[in-house]
Amino acid sequence: MALEIIEGCVNCWACLPLCPNEAIREARPHFEIDPLRCSECVEAYAEPQCAAICPVEGVIVDELGMPLNPPGSLTGIPSVPPPQASLQEGH
Ligand code: SF4
Ligand code: SF4
Repeated sequence: MALEIIEGCVNCWACLPLCPNEAIREARPHFEIDPLRCSECVEAYAEPQCAAICPVEGVIVDELGMPLNPPGSLTGIPSVPPPQASLQEGH
């Protein structure tokens, strides 16, 4: 049970000091989570601290690859624009 930091991380350092297990380390091209140390914060906090502070959507994922901050969750901007009826009507 561990989270993973993937491509898109901007190496901002926000998450690293918050991890209760010192599981996050500076790395290139992006920071990394040690899967042997990450507990997903289950016993320490109500929510994963790294995902709670991360300012970038989609870069911290669970073991299934699902983002903890999916597109639109931080910005409020939907990732898929609503259909435009005028285009379908030939305008
Ligand atoms: S989920 Fe918690 S334990 Fe795992 S890397 Fe993030 S802050 Fe650390
Ligand atoms: S807070 Fe997010 S963007 Fe910043 S270093 Fe951690 S994973 Fe990367």
